[in-house]
Amino acid sequence: MKTYTTTKEKKNRKSLLALIIGLALIACAVIITLCVTLTGTEDVGGTILPPSGDQTKQYVMPLSEYTLGKDFSDKLVYNQTLKQWRTHNGVDFLAEKGTDVVAIMDGKVLSIENTTLEGTVITIEQIDGITAIYKSLSAEVNVEEGATVNAGDKLGTVDLTMATEKKEGSHLHLEMKKDGEYLSPLEYLPEGADK
Ligand SMILES: [Zn+2]
Repeated sequence: MKTYTTTKEKKNRKSLLALIIGLALIACAVIITLCVTLTGTEDVGGTILPPSGDQTKQYVMPLSEYTLGKDFSDKLVYNQTLKQWRTHNGVDFLAEKGTDVVAIMDGKVLSIENTTLEGTVITIEQIDGITAIYKSLSAEVNVEEGATVNAGDKLGTVDLTMATEKKEGSHLHLEMKKDGEYLSPLEYLPEGADK
């Protein structure tokens, strides 16, 4: 038996096809919108504070009483504890255990870590775009992660917790970093030149 397609059936097929295409287009639009929305709300992570480049803010010393220990050196210096020649990425402020350590500049506490090799380490992202890393602190600290600190605020106390520099005695090992490069802290600190 032969079947014939009538004009009416053809019309019906055409409108059905148009409906399917229409629905497909709407589905595409919905998917694209969802993708864009989800990408937009994705947590980008990383920087908490945008570097403001504020150069007017003054640095303060991290300790009020100290003796300057080993200075920053991007050349190899001998490490008594490890009996190794290595770079010294920060500056050491020798002080009695329990001496207060304060923030050298305004910023936000990025992390507080208790490490075997470097003791308690507080990392602060400063308003000038530099990251300050305070090492060899006592396990008990005075700030929390995410807290905003001002220059002079107490962070914790000096201790003997940095295993890689144990021979130096209790001290603060302070590092400063920008764009992945270590900086010499004494070039920024007010008493840097004459101590
Ligand atoms: Zn050190």
